[in-house]
Amino acid sequence: MKIAEGVATLELTMSFSGTPSVIHPTLVWDETNVLLFDTGTPGQSKPIREEIERLGIDIARLDKVVLTHQDIDHLGSMPKLREELPQTLEVFAHAEDKPSIEGEKPILKMSMLRQSPRFDTLPESFRTIVEHVLASPPVSKVDTLLADGEKLPYCGGITTIHTPGHTPGHLSFYLHASKVLIAGDALMAADGKLIGPNESATPDMPLALASLRKLLPYDIETVVCYHGGVVTGAAADIRSRLEELAG
Ligand SMILES: [Zn+2]
Repeated sequence: MKIAEGVATLELTMSFSGTPSVIHPTLVWDETNVLLFDTGTPGQSKPIREEIERLGIDIARLDKVVLTHQDIDHLGSMPKLREELPQTLEVFAHAEDKPSIEGEKPILKMSMLRQSPRFDTLPESFRTIVEHVLASPPVSKVDTLLADGEKLPYCGGITTIHTPGHTPGHLSFYLHASKVLIAGDALMAADGKLIGPNESATPDMPLALASLRKLLPYDIETVVCYHGGVVTGAAADIRSRLEELAG
């Protein structure tokens, strides 16, 4: 869904943990660059390519992939995209999530889930997936590290905001040209309204809520939540909702 000039969400259906839900990677482009933020679950490189083509953008122009964090539903199809596309892709992430993305460390949430007493109560099909992901994770080299406050010189300027809590290296991004915030999993949306991060998937909730304060200085008119989709409104309303959620 196109949400601003040179900004669109891709709608992908995620069903690997049982109940199907829609996830929203974001595509950002201009005449020079095409950037994809997050890559769905394993096995979604085809729908990603199709969604990009459906927006009228030649997949051969995709040159940068930004991972908001290491979770399997964000990193999932990165290795396949790198393998299947002939062009060189530059992959960006934060230093604190890099070891899990590169396979040096297990994917944090998967390994926490595997060790929790809750694991044995999960449906067998999901347990099999978790075991499989831990045994052979989707590994991708990170080419370029992003730090808090760093401004990427692409598509009118994109500021990196380190928003840890959901994972240690979680990143959100502010697109200056369109006033869009790509929230990753720092925020979720339900019925067009912003809600806080998913508590059951956020190991450090106090830190995740404190991270929301870092979004307040930005003039945000649209928020893309990976889970829950797009929220739009007056910047003042979005700011006051963020203040409310941050507590
Ligand atoms: Zn997620």
